[in-house]
Amino acid sequence: MFIINENLALKVISNMNDSFIFVFLLGACVLLVRQTGGGNRDEQQLGERAPAWVNDNDVTRCQHCNNRFKNSIISSRRHHCRSCGRCVCSNCSQRRILLEYCKAENEVRVCDACYTHFTGIAVTKNAATLIKPTRDIERTILYGDFRMTSGNEVVWISLQEDFHLHVFGGKLDQAENHAIKLSDLVDIQLDNDTRTFTLRETSKTHVFILESNHLIFYEKNDLLDEKLTNAGTKLNFYVNLWFEAIQLARSTTLPDWYIRKRDSADSGVSNIG
Ligand SMILES: [Zn+2]
Ligand SMILES: [Zn+2]
Repeated sequence: MFIINENLALKVISNMNDSFIFVFLLGACVLLVRQTGGGNRDEQQLGERAPAWVNDNDVTRCQHCNNRFKNSIISSRRHHCRSCGRCVCSNCSQRRILLEYCKAENEVRVCDACYTHFTGIAVTKNAATLIKPTRDIERTILYGDFRMTSGNEVVWISLQEDFHLHVFGGKLDQAENHAIKLSDLVDIQLDNDTRTFTLRETSKTHVFILESNHLIFYEKNDLLDEKLTNAGTKLNFYVNLWFEAIQLARSTTLPDWYIRKRDSADSGVSNIG
């Protein structure tokens, strides 16, 4: 498996001036995030050294219970687990233990998962407070960041094999804020100049803009190489790719270039660029 700190990888990505990403790094992140839920959770090394903390901006939900930090009645404060570095709510980080790298000075705050890892004691939670993850990386056709015109907030949208657009608050969030069922749409429009997608349901309209620092994740293949050549610019390519994929998903069809990650997770990933 990949042993890579996804904070580092994401930092590399966000520092790039170019619009495109190292999908290898992102793929590694994704694998790590998928396996650990984010943070520095190589179990061999937990507690041995200070973890890199997950960036507050990358999560809008607790990385343990998936509750939103904002508007959460119980525990809206963000805390970082001193063992794994994940960003968790206070409800999921009530325990303190001694960690090796802290030189046994003081007990420090850890998340419930790390507490169980070190002590063997399960932390029981009210099932109602645990929110089920909805991010399915292995069955994701495309994902990337968009700006919603309502509220002007940047969200992370994932088109999954269930033909829904899953809208996440942060790039490391595992539970969505809401999902758009594409087969329910009555109209899809794209304004190429502004990269604005308008998706209409009978009673609701969703408008979002593909960000110019758009991140994209897919397996490189000849069909995509050809699309890139035809599109002229990479930004056009991304806009076209999303538009095509959304239209196909509306009629519950997968794009011909799509390769499921689960079948090829060990072969690594790459991007066009
Ligand atoms: Zn929590
Ligand atoms: Zn932890």
